[in-house]
Amino acid sequence: MALEKLGKALNSALKKLARSSTVDEATIKEVVRDIQRALIQADVNVRLVLQLTKTIEKRALEEKAPAGASKKEHIIQIVYEELTKFLGKEARPLEIREKPTVLLTVGIQGSGKTTSVAKLARHLQKRGYKVGLVCSDTWRPGAYYQLKQLVEPFGIEVFGDPNEKDAVRLAREGVEYFKNKGVDVIIVDSAGRHKDESGLIEEMKQISEAIKPHEVILVIDGTIGQQAYNQALAFKEATPIGSIIVTKLDGSAKGGGALSAVAATGAPIKFIGVGERIDDLEPFDPKRFVSRLLGMGDIEGLLQKLEELQKEREFKEEDVEKFLKGKFNLKDMYAQLEAMGKMGPLKQILQMIPGLGYSLPEDAVKVGEEKLNRYRVIMDSMTEEELEHPEIINYSRIKRIARGSGTSVKEVRELLNQYNQMKKMFKGMDKRKLSKMAKKFNF
Ligand code: GDP
Repeated sequence: MALEKLGKALNSALKKLARSSTVDEATIKEVVRDIQRALIQADVNVRLVLQLTKTIEKRALEEKAPAGASKKEHIIQIVYEELTKFLGKEARPLEIREKPTVLLTVGIQGSGKTTSVAKLARHLQKRGYKVGLVCSDTWRPGAYYQLKQLVEPFGIEVFGDPNEKDAVRLAREGVEYFKNKGVDVIIVDSAGRHKDESGLIEEMKQISEAIKPHEVILVIDGTIGQQAYNQALAFKEATPIGSIIVTKLDGSAKGGGALSAVAATGAPIKFIGVGERIDDLEPFDPKRFVSRLLGMGDIEGLLQKLEELQKEREFKEEDVEKFLKGKFNLKDMYAQLEAMGKMGPLKQILQMIPGLGYSLPEDAVKVGEEKLNRYRVIMDSMTEEELEHPEIINYSRIKRIARGSGTSVKEVRELLNQYNQMKKMFKGMDKRKLSKMAKKFNF
């Protein structure tokens, strides 16, 4: 998940509050200090942190809890509200109003621009838009092939010519090409050779003149932390039609700094990059983001994710039901693991369920492609009865299965361990909450 470390630190500050027996001035000050520390460690600008925490402290000390809410709940609400404001308050979704809508992407080399263009194309395609990509990077011939390779599996076409030297011409021709083809969205990817903001903005102006995009999207590397401020500010000042994608928010210790710095410029953050795979792009909504960050759970986010899954038909209804009930055999486990590989770790989804928070063991839900293939080979050597009732698999059966599949006893055991671990995990979940959810989503 994005900003995991920051989320954990904020979550533990709030847990401390929840555990304390009284809520007095000293308690509030301690929570505020914990929040300050967490934000500064995530490279959030110190001045911004002080402003934010001062407001939180002031409100927590002065405001009365609304009827029906405890003081603790009220403080958590204040922290949630202020952090949400801090990150831009309202979601500013990308809107596709005209056909075709032309988008231009800019970004410094290495920012994750090419990957983000592919992710964005896929995101729009999943929502029913026909998308065409134009690669106008004349500096790096590899850019065209990289983009092509990323989107080809999804049937998205890339216009480009690695031998062409004139980026503006390429952009113009590409847009014409896709206009004639009748696509809904054209994304023009520009070169990423810029060293600084001025090079980037110069190129944006040149290509913008030629293709008149509806929106220019700047891709910013989230790992640069609060340094993102200057880039975002220069960009915001240069174009009124600009929006931003902040990438690499998975695993970056400085992601909080980047996100808050960009938000501080007032430039709209429309998406965040949360991984290397094509589906690791999330529309940015400060409310949802903060509630997940704080570990408060997020029904809305969960709903959206599940909706997408259903759309893709990678997760059948009965699978979800079995999963929610914790009833499943080896065949189901394989289907689950396979689906998870496609949709991102199950953990991401479970994290959105209120009350579950961070309690899941990583390796219980995540297996690599290679391991999955090995599981398939092993399972091919099992009988139908063994697949449906794995508890009957004793040592002599394990030996037979290992021999039959050309694997080892250790590997068969590993598969069974994974199965037991997953089964245990589902058993340990709060059934009441899960079934309530299942009802809510009509499973
Ligand atoms: P470009 O030079 O700006 O076009 O950058 P690329 O798209 O080639 O990305 C540079 C590197 O960053 C690649 O290894 C990408 O896989 C990686 N990357 C891009 N976005 C993300 C992200 O959101 N998370 C992670 N972990 N890696 C990313």
